[in-house]
Amino acid sequence: MLESSLRIGAIAGIRIGVHYTWFIVFLLLSSVLAAYFRETHPEWSGVAVVLTALVTTLMYFVSIVLHELGHSLVAIARGVQVRAITLFIFGGIAQTEKDADTAATEFYIAIAGPLVSFLLAGLFYLLKLGFVSYSTIATEAFNWLATINLVLAVFNLIPGFPLDGGRVFRALVWRFTGDAAKGMQWAVLGGKLVAYGLMLIGALVGLQPGMLFNGIWLIGIGWFLFAAAEGSRRAYFSSQLAAHVLVGDVMQKQVPTVTTDMSILHWIDTQMLLTGQRFALVTEGGQIVGLITLNDAIQCPRAQWADTPVCEVMTTFERLYTVKPANSVLEVMEIMREQNINQVPVMDEATVIGWIDREHVLKILQLHSAIGR
Ligand SMILES: [Zn+2]
Repeated sequence: MLESSLRIGAIAGIRIGVHYTWFIVFLLLSSVLAAYFRETHPEWSGVAVVLTALVTTLMYFVSIVLHELGHSLVAIARGVQVRAITLFIFGGIAQTEKDADTAATEFYIAIAGPLVSFLLAGLFYLLKLGFVSYSTIATEAFNWLATINLVLAVFNLIPGFPLDGGRVFRALVWRFTGDAAKGMQWAVLGGKLVAYGLMLIGALVGLQPGMLFNGIWLIGIGWFLFAAAEGSRRAYFSSQLAAHVLVGDVMQKQVPTVTTDMSILHWIDTQMLLTGQRFALVTEGGQIVGLITLNDAIQCPRAQWADTPVCEVMTTFERLYTVKPANSVLEVMEIMREQNINQVPVMDEATVIGWIDREHVLKILQLHSAIGR
């Protein structure tokens, strides 16, 4: 969902990006703030109103980045890699490489964000006190920032997944029952209740005169939370499933092969287009020397397919990613995602005994979840 974001920089190796929906929010928030300042301080000049609104909005987003950095730095300290922090319409999100593997890690990562927001609220409050006799503009801006950070900290502590409070709740259930899955189920249930609650409140608020926009906003947040809770539940349980399915049990044993001297065109016409298999192991004198895929073939200009042997475009054996039959499907899926590949040969000692294919694995996992085991 947040793939197409604009990179604005990096902190501690973490990519910071903004999704295009962020610009909508930036404009909305700065105009709401400008309207608020104009109403409460009619003595301010137009330029002062607009500049204060823009700078305050920017500081608000800096606060969100710091909140997400709080999560991220604790995650990294606890051995969970963080890929990116992305700002989008409903705030910020820190994308981690994997889930926390202990309840304690989950707890510390989750609590770090709201703690940063509480600290920022305190800091902006002190700044407000410091400026109160010098500048109304600074006082107003710091006052708003202190309040919004306090609201952020408190709202995020509501115990519904994927809010931070939901993650804290999940960690606590996990810690006291010893069951990570139970923690997830409870936290997701909490998340859905919060989502329904927000949508209901949004509907009631929206019916009040002049409050339509606020109502729609709350319904939007509720809807987003519901989708995120359900999406996280699915991702969690399918990865649980994938961790228990072994490569050796689901691999395909008929390994398509070609010899090094076969032309790309010959391979495509006599194998790929007939079997639907987009790859083949390349052998020479019975030894496996590489792997050719449709993607490799496409790298070569079509006019040269008839005269180019597969060995010229294949991935050589030394550079191949392989797995063992005892690996879990989850491990293979991670390799496929990280390396952006769709097929992985399965090796037992020095022999290829089968292969695993992304589509095939997904189909099997869907069947597992359809019959509930
Ligand atoms: Zn957070």
